[in-house]
Amino acid sequence: MGILERNSRNIDNRCWNPGIKAFPVKNVYTAGVAGQRFFEELKENGKIYGSKCEKCGLTYVPARIYCEKCFDHLLEKDWVDVGIEGTIYSYTLVCKTKSGGPKEKPSIMAAIRIADGLLIHRLGDCREEELEIGRPVKAEFKPKQDRTGSIEDIMHFKPL
Ligand SMILES: [Zn+2]
Repeated sequence: MGILERNSRNIDNRCWNPGIKAFPVKNVYTAGVAGQRFFEELKENGKIYGSKCEKCGLTYVPARIYCEKCFDHLLEKDWVDVGIEGTIYSYTLVCKTKSGGPKEKPSIMAAIRIADGLLIHRLGDCREEELEIGRPVKAEFKPKQDRTGSIEDIMHFKPL
């Protein structure tokens, strides 16, 4: 079950027939109200959404349903399109695979500052030598038909 799919029967989440030997776990993770909107906007519109606290002036990316500073609820009216550009907050060269073996070609992972939030993602279409903290970058999305409603709908961020 994908992150944007939902159970159609609430009983699946509340009831377990003890006659069944295995517990019917169908959801591994839910993105929540704001997370779902964040991933839907990536998939359907190629947009990055955050949520802005009117009291504090902070814009969280990805979107959230409460402000970490003042604990105010952030409602649908507070969700904002933050654009698809940010700046490099930090980056590192990744030379090993998840299993610890050498990568055929190193990749560059970065923390990208967008509004008052950070997204961790790949940098692409660039060489390590041309990178620096604070450099502007822009999200490059997969073609719409290939998007699934995940952070991977952004192929990478490319330096401007
Ligand atoms: Zn606040």
